Amino acid sequence: MALQVIQSGWVAQGKAVERFENEFCDFLGLPYGSAVAVSSGTAALYLALLALDAKGKNIAFPAYSCSALRNATALAGGNPLLVDSMLDSPNMDIYTIDNNANIAIIPHMYGLPQDFTKHNFKISVIEDCAQSLGARVAQTLVGLQGNIGIFSFYATKLMTTGGQGGMIVSRDASIINELKDYRLFDRRFDAKVRFNFQMTDLQAAIGSAQLQQFPNFLKRRADIFQQYQEANFPLLDVGQDIQPVRFRAILRTTKQNEIITALHQDNISAVIPLQDLELLGPKEVYPNAYAWTKNTVSLPIYPSLKDEDVKRIIHIVKNVL
Ligand SMILES: *Cc1c(COP(=O)(O)O)cnc(C)c1O
Repeated sequence: MALQVIQSGWVAQGKAVERFENEFCDFLGLPYGSAVAVSSGTAALYLALLALDAKGKNIAFPAYSCSALRNATALAGGNPLLVDSMLDSPNMDIYTIDNNANIAIIPHMYGLPQDFTKHNFKISVIEDCAQSLGARVAQTLVGLQGNIGIFSFYATKLMTTGGQGGMIVSRDASIINELKDYRLFDRRFDAKVRFNFQMTDLQAAIGSAQLQQFPNFLKRRADIFQQYQEANFPLLDVGQDIQPVRFRAILRTTKQNEIITALHQDNISAVIPLQDLELLGPKEVYPNAYAWTKNTVSLPIYPSLKDEDVKRIIHIVKNVL
């Protein structure tokens, strides 16, 4: 598909982007025209905030999350209002969102979504699905529990559009129209400021190919996760009515350094998924978020990881636990 784009001579945003957007809508079960492809997940967040008129407003998001949330909020001119994680989940505690918040960005960490379909938000919500494409809450794929959903196709996410890429979805036609108007910056006569956040046709073609394989990616990830489960590893998981995707295999352990060092000695890389110095707020104010930086290790999990390597990892980690 990418080769066809190159041979066509049209590599910038065009028909392949439109097709990828439609395929993405099909995947999520949304009507065509509900998705807008952009250059990254951060760009998607920024544009979502822009569409919600975030300038000067209070934006709630978790202290325990990707710096993209803080960066997009700053660029959009919003005031950050950080929220702590839950005690039993690294996801943000939506019940402690400050009353002064106008907009909330709610990420599903590590492919483990939280169900907020029953929560009656009085504010606008951006559902950040950068780590949870394909996960379900209450039988429904994540993406539109809020007003806007965003996705990332960065190289290390669940699927990629060739290294960088993002998607915004919404059922609100006025939001979609505003985003599409923003994205088209060339040959405009209204002098409105528009940065270039386009996805290219070459990227979109890679995205289409990845989306076709996506169910297989998820299956292989689930298979690896199951092998870790069968080894009785204390893994972070979700409750009933939630169907996660295995973006990360997060070991709950305070033996972080022992495990990482033991794996490293066998040339296997494991990491603390989010370190204390990466927290978006002071650890004293967000104790649950801080705790999650101290009791987690992210084990290797990706579609091309071989069973023999999974077995090696299990053997090494078992020795430490
Ligand atoms: C990766 C990520 C982003 C940012 O996406 P990029 O494509 O890297 O800009 C935003 N939110 C979360 C939760 C992420 O994991």
